[in-house]
Amino acid sequence: MTATKKSVTILGSTGSIGKSTLDVISGHQDKFALFSLTANKNYALLLEQAQQFNPQHVVIVDEKAAELFARDAAHYDLNCTIHVGADALEMVASAPEVDIVMAAIVGAAGLLPTLAAAQSGKRILLANKEALVMTGELLMNAVKASGATLLPVDSEHNAIYQCLPPQFNGQSLTALGIRKIILTASGGPFLKTPLSDLKAVTPEQACKHPNWEMGRKISVDSASMMNKGLELIEAHWLFSAPIEHIELLIQPQSVMHSMVEYIDGSILAELGVPDMRTPIAHVLGLPVRLDSGVKSLDFVSLKQLDFLPLDLARYPLLQLVYQALEMGKTAATCLNAANEVAVDAFLNRKIGFLQMATLVEQTLSKCELLPANSIANILAVDAEARDLSHRALLEM
Ligand code: NAD
Ligand code: MG
Repeated sequence: MTATKKSVTILGSTGSIGKSTLDVISGHQDKFALFSLTANKNYALLLEQAQQFNPQHVVIVDEKAAELFARDAAHYDLNCTIHVGADALEMVASAPEVDIVMAAIVGAAGLLPTLAAAQSGKRILLANKEALVMTGELLMNAVKASGATLLPVDSEHNAIYQCLPPQFNGQSLTALGIRKIILTASGGPFLKTPLSDLKAVTPEQACKHPNWEMGRKISVDSASMMNKGLELIEAHWLFSAPIEHIELLIQPQSVMHSMVEYIDGSILAELGVPDMRTPIAHVLGLPVRLDSGVKSLDFVSLKQLDFLPLDLARYPLLQLVYQALEMGKTAATCLNAANEVAVDAFLNRKIGFLQMATLVEQTLSKCELLPANSIANILAVDAEARDLSHRALLEM
């Protein structure tokens, strides 16, 4: 029986996506076994998860948290090896025993383990969009070279993936008879906030998403629309889609999770209750459908589905995404790094909501871009952008 179970590593098991993944797996323990769970600092939750799911390995990046984990774990009969530090993330993402890697670390910290999973031929369930934004073609090439499978967890991309022809294998949209991809956005908590009020919005307001419960970084990105910009780049790489073939559309209820329009006029959409367990169950189970625990969408009580144009003037960070795409080379890496510094500064009340765009713009204008053709270049530009952003922060 055990031999037929798929062996899973969850990178970032203590986060919002990590917890939802474990929730889905808890209903299918006959199909999945945990190879490894990983966390940055939340040792208490990691210990709880280890007790419940019995992984062979746990990784804690933060040394202090790892000490506390080991101290508390000594009281229980845990049968797992404890690893400390970021290097171990790559080991548990690429170990030969592993079939499936859920990439759910937030930000650039997830890049190297996700790349390790790609290089070692795993089925990668990609939530960590920043990894793909930073490396684009490099990550896609690593997947191709090793025969890995990259499946989107992001609800919009998962919806698009489900609406593509079943034979989709990286072909061009034109070859598949597709006119465009319609990437939907909820508009976030500030969709209707007067522009003059945005200057003073707080981290608490920004993190209060109307439809989704998510980690703090992606919540701020959703409020600023940077999340949609990162998703635009993500869709571009995942589906070999030219940017001009990806249309952005506000769908405030987050029920229609994106669409694919074919040249005959047919539009396919994926709909459902906004709950990340749906896309997670989809990519975990493929080609088999798994019960995710998500309830049916009640169309009658939903009453209406609204669509609004996306007003670029409202979202300066999204304008910078288009600018970075024009710049090419490692501009997306730089943009992502500057945004991570900006979001962190906003969450820690060092800068205001609108200053995030100022910081990213300044960094993008100063950073020396390199060809995006090696991991060394990606890491160098990421580091330089962070350095420039931290210096710019001191002036703000
Ligand atoms: P989160 O903040 O809730 O969780 C992040 C996880 O990453 C935690 O387990 C944390 O321990 C780990 N982590 C953080 N910093 C780390 C570091 N330096 N080294 C190692 N591990 C580290 O975030 P989330 O909302 O679960 O989002 C995770 C990823 O999934 C993000 O890239 C996000 O954009 C993407 N995503 C999330 C959602 C959602 O609904 N939450 C939807 C789509 C995509
Ligand atoms: Mg999304």
